[in-house]
Amino acid sequence: MIRIDETNLRNKTVIIRVDFNVPIKDGVIVDDNRIKESLKTINYCLDNNCKIILLSHLGKIKTEEDKVKYSLKPISIRLSELLNKEVIFIPETRGKIVDDVVKNMKNKDIVLLENTRFEDLNGKLESSCDDTLSSYWASLGDIFINDAFGTCHRKHASNVGISKHLPSCLGFLVLKEIEELDKIKNNPSHPFIIILGGSKLSDKLKTIENLSKKADYILVGGAMAYTILKAKGINVGKSLVDDDAISFVKTLPIKKIILPVDHVVALEIDGTRTITKNIGDEEIGLDIGPETEKLFKSYLEKSKTIFWNGPMGYYENPSYQEGTKFLCEVISKLDATSIVGGGDSASCVINMGYKDKFTHISTGGGASLEYLEGKELPGVNI
Ligand code: ADP
Ligand code: MG
Repeated sequence: MIRIDETNLRNKTVIIRVDFNVPIKDGVIVDDNRIKESLKTINYCLDNNCKIILLSHLGKIKTEEDKVKYSLKPISIRLSELLNKEVIFIPETRGKIVDDVVKNMKNKDIVLLENTRFEDLNGKLESSCDDTLSSYWASLGDIFINDAFGTCHRKHASNVGISKHLPSCLGFLVLKEIEELDKIKNNPSHPFIIILGGSKLSDKLKTIENLSKKADYILVGGAMAYTILKAKGINVGKSLVDDDAISFVKTLPIKKIILPVDHVVALEIDGTRTITKNIGDEEIGLDIGPETEKLFKSYLEKSKTIFWNGPMGYYENPSYQEGTKFLCEVISKLDATSIVGGGDSASCVINMGYKDKFTHISTGGGASLEYLEGKELPGVNI
């Protein structure tokens, strides 16, 4: 693990893998926290008179249409505002235009290439860590800096791949994340409670098993709860469920897992909300209910360490934000170490006004969960 501040960057061309995977709605950035978190490393490279090439992914690219939705163009504009400096956006991930722009860069120029995952349409070259793509990107610079904590649990061409071809180091954001997570990783004060929610079911369900060895309780809300409730034979109506994960869920240490006892439901995803203990066949569970809030509060009030990933409901609609807000409020009053991680989770905490109430707001969801589990993150071991 080589640190950015122990690396000679003076006058070098640096390739920085940043995490600009921010929530975007109709071309507008909903939360720019991850862009702001990249500024320290970028400014440090500017101070070192570097030429700076930035790489990032945004969303998942499965079709040509996704390319319109997930272009990094709006991000280059926001970054330029935050830095008060021109950011040259190249709407390509490689090829002659990229080569020409890079060849003509001057010191302190900043270039942002298009979304690295556009290369996934081309046989998953980015996500499968294709070596030809990795070595092409590496050929553009002298030094590689990984500062994208949110993807450190992935071995992709734009992080691990490039690092195989260039002297590499970790940027300030990744270093800060590791330092903060280390505080609770090895010797967390007990009771240690993990709150899980959100929608990325299969990925995260597997981490529950390992985390349950370290945590005293795991409070589960969000869409994730419905898969577990269904596995227990409870009717969850039309709630979001990961059916592929049901058989796995049956093997979980269920005693440590605290599930919702009531729900905010609606007949349609943007429909009128009602509260129920028993979800009807036609209903969708969209937030935890008030009894669940009380139940979760009773556990949190006794805790000394809290790690939270995943909103408690479909928070994009204000009707289903209450559970998430309630937990923010409870945690803000506690004298416990509290870390929240994940793109949506961090965005909720910040937008709901609780940024300063948490010990640390991590930019990584899956990455921080895997790190806490004790797994080695390929993007950190470069
Ligand atoms: P993070 O980005 O913090 O890691 P995830 O991406 O796993 O979190 O989950 C966030 C998503 O989960 C949000 O889009 C939110 O609307 C969705 N979600 C949470 N609860 C529900 C639910 N009950 N039904 C549908 N979607 C939900
Ligand atoms: Mg998310």
